[in-house]
Amino acid sequence: MKNHPRMPLRFYNTLTQQVEPFAPLHDNIVRMYTCGPTVYNYVHIGNLRTFTFQDILRRWLQVRGYQLDHVMNITDVEDKIIRNASAEHKSIAEYTEKYTQAFLEDTATLRLQRPERLVKATDHIPDMVRAIQDLERLGYTYQSDGSIYYRISKFPGYGKLSHNDFSGIRAGARVDVDEYDKANARDFVLWKAPKNDEPFWDSPVGPGRPGWHIECSVMAMKYLGETLDIHAGGVDLVFPHHENEIAQSEAITSKPFARFWLHSEFLNVEAQKMSKSAGNFYTLRDLRELGYAPEPIRYLLASVPYRKKLNFTFDGLKAAATAIDRLRNFKLRLETDRYPEGTNEKLVQRTEAAAQRFGESLDDDLNTAEALASLFEYVRDANTAMDAGEFRAGNIPSALELLDEFDRIFDVLRPSSSEAGTTDAQVESLIAERAQAKKNREFARADQIRQQLLDAGIILEDTKEGARWKRK
Ligand SMILES: [Zn+2]
Repeated sequence: MKNHPRMPLRFYNTLTQQVEPFAPLHDNIVRMYTCGPTVYNYVHIGNLRTFTFQDILRRWLQVRGYQLDHVMNITDVEDKIIRNASAEHKSIAEYTEKYTQAFLEDTATLRLQRPERLVKATDHIPDMVRAIQDLERLGYTYQSDGSIYYRISKFPGYGKLSHNDFSGIRAGARVDVDEYDKANARDFVLWKAPKNDEPFWDSPVGPGRPGWHIECSVMAMKYLGETLDIHAGGVDLVFPHHENEIAQSEAITSKPFARFWLHSEFLNVEAQKMSKSAGNFYTLRDLRELGYAPEPIRYLLASVPYRKKLNFTFDGLKAAATAIDRLRNFKLRLETDRYPEGTNEKLVQRTEAAAQRFGESLDDDLNTAEALASLFEYVRDANTAMDAGEFRAGNIPSALELLDEFDRIFDVLRPSSSEAGTTDAQVESLIAERAQAKKNREFARADQIRQQLLDAGIILEDTKEGARWKRK
């Protein structure tokens, strides 16, 4: 079993329904497109699960030596946006700006890396019109009441991503939230004529606005070329959105649109489907108001492998905070305890084995649960060795390196800056006061100071060498 060659990085591809070794098509650059938010509201934790998965994907690709060219769209024109903007007597741009900014803030709070390119649909209307004209010329479209639809019966590969056979069941069902009549119910809209006094763009294909699907095809290919390395999104987008993206793009180029399709599973809350009516609908802002720090939220969203359903619970959130504490305490112990000189060779091997299993787990279609298990088993063994006096000074660097490797992906060890704003000097002075109080056997005062620090987000740990502290 020893010295087996490392398995390559591999992902489950929705298109082929296989786990396949991954490498980019050109050079060292991964050309990736992910469907971004529709900016009509704050993103909820189900959306954030998908974006967190994509962040883990980005980070692991980087660890494995790849550069990213990652495009994410901002959908800033669609039915709900138009409805909500007009209800608030705002322009589309005014209305969406607020939620675009909120999205950027929320993803930054969760430490999600910014994609290399964030692109707005409304900045690409002429590109979309040109693509619609291409499809028209190639015979894939028809008009109805001023709107332009994609005729899916013209595209033989329709259904290949969702692995549905649509040949027999086309009539009578809808694939789009669109409210227009369509000659074939599963045909989808490319260009929507304005209703009543809706906002619209003048264009060579008539007044109107683009459908959601064409937006992604056009912006993906504009920046990344005709064939992407990875297209990712939530599993709810497989059909019809991604199926329609393929139908549009491949009709225009006659080339495969994306080589790898990665989809993250749903999130439930306390085992229930999240919905406003069930009262279990949460945005990041809701959770922050309930007092949860960003790190346990990020940890919980990342800890379940992306292809498994995630049951988001408040117990799970508390367990995530405990897990992070355990790692921070271990790190603190590495950095502040004194250990005998020399190196424990058995522990060196133990650290290497943990690092290897950590990497192999993430290579295996981003198995975050397995990666975390390998780390926590290691931390348990290292703590045991410390307690037994078997941990040596020479074992510190590789242990810290393993924690670094973990944090390059999970990014939860650094506490978010405390809002209380207690300075280090204030903390030190309170700790000194508490030590004096204990010496004077004024235990009530000592406890009071500990509580005061805790309220300010400072955790104290008493050791033989004195009190250690850290920010929550
Ligand atoms: Zn999309």
